[in-house]
Amino acid sequence: MLLFTSRLPDYIPDPGLWAPHEVGHQWFGNVVSPDENARGRWFVEESINEYLRAMYVEHTYGADSLKRLLRELYLRNYTEIVKKEKDVPIMEVVSVNNSVEEAQAIYAKGPLVLHQVRRCMGDDNWNSCIKRIYRDFQKQLFTLEDFKRYIARFGKDGKCLGRFNELLIARGIDQDFVY
Ligand SMILES: [Zn+2]
Repeated sequence: MLLFTSRLPDYIPDPGLWAPHEVGHQWFGNVVSPDENARGRWFVEESINEYLRAMYVEHTYGADSLKRLLRELYLRNYTEIVKKEKDVPIMEVVSVNNSVEEAQAIYAKGPLVLHQVRRCMGDDNWNSCIKRIYRDFQKQLFTLEDFKRYIARFGKDGKCLGRFNELLIARGIDQDFVY
């Protein structure tokens, strides 16, 4: 069961944009519960879920649909909404309700960062990693530190964790991002 404010349709009138995300929370958000008091809570709760929503689109409509979502939704939103000097690194987000910049760091840049981690470790390792986390953390609290341990385990001798750590504290979206 999912609960959300009745004002959600006022903020985002097109249910196509929010319903798949909210349905995704049945897995990451409900069954696997982010620890609300831990550092990186918003990334764990919202960015991972939003990227899983993108993976659902990819699974249903094909690889090109994922590329389109990454570039035409996340990247475009981020670059249009966040002005250069106002960039907030993911690790400095206090709340997604604080500012549009913080919301974009989590809902737009977050999934792009996860895509970089996936490209680093490869599809097979990424899928195994996500499935293992889901199995190991059902009905338990899950934190960013837990997530990092799994990235270290599935990601090429620490290379992918290193890249992930860099991106969590970086400003903006650099030219090296892959889609
Ligand atoms: Zn959400």
